[in-house]
Amino acid sequence: MRPDKTEARLKALLKDTQNRRCVNCDSLGPQYVVCNFNVFVCTVCSGVHRQFGHRVKGVSMSTFKPEEVAELEASGNEKFAAYFLSKWTTAALPKPVDRDVHRIHTWISAIYQDRRFYAEPTGGWAPGTGAMSAAGSSISEGREPAVRPMSDVLGSETPKLKVQGSANLERSVSAISSSAGCAKRRQRQQAAG
Ligand SMILES: [Zn+2]
Repeated sequence: MRPDKTEARLKALLKDTQNRRCVNCDSLGPQYVVCNFNVFVCTVCSGVHRQFGHRVKGVSMSTFKPEEVAELEASGNEKFAAYFLSKWTTAALPKPVDRDVHRIHTWISAIYQDRRFYAEPTGGWAPGTGAMSAAGSSISEGREPAVRPMSDVLGSETPKLKVQGSANLERSVSAISSSAGCAKRRQRQQAAG
C-alpha cells in the first residue's frame, strides 16, 4: 500500500507501447484514464468521455488505488482494441485522428456505447501476446520469471536415455552433469543478484 509504488507502476503503464497513444485518436502521450474501460486517452477525448458519463481520471492529478492500477495492468489500450475494435475497419468508421470533437463523439458513441465492432477475439486475448509482454517483466516485480530449472528438464529425460557403449555413457553423463552444473550456477547467481 505504498502510494509511491502505485505511482511508479502507473508511470510504467504510460510508457508501455500500447498506451503511448490515445486509444481513440492516436495522439501521443495520453494523460487520462477512462476507468469504465481501463483505457488511456488524451485530454480532448477525456472531455468527450465525460459527456457520456464515463468516469475519467487524470493520471497526474488523481490518486489511483493499487487495485485500480492492477486492473489497468491487466487491461490497457491493447486489450480494449482486441475486444471493442475486433470487427472494426477504417472504411466502416474512420478513427478521429484529427481530434475533431464531433468525430470523437461519433466514435465513442459507436465503439463504447453501441459496441458496433465488439467481438470476443478468436482464441481469446492473452496478456503477453502483444506489447504488454515486452514491458511486463519490468513493470511487475512480483511476477515469477518463466525459467525452469535444468534439473526439471533432465529429470524427465534421463531415464529414457538408452546408452550402448561405455564411452557413450561417459560422454552423456558428463554432458548432463556439466549442463546441470551450469543451471545450478545460474540459479545461484540469480539468488545472489
Ligand atoms: Zn484522443
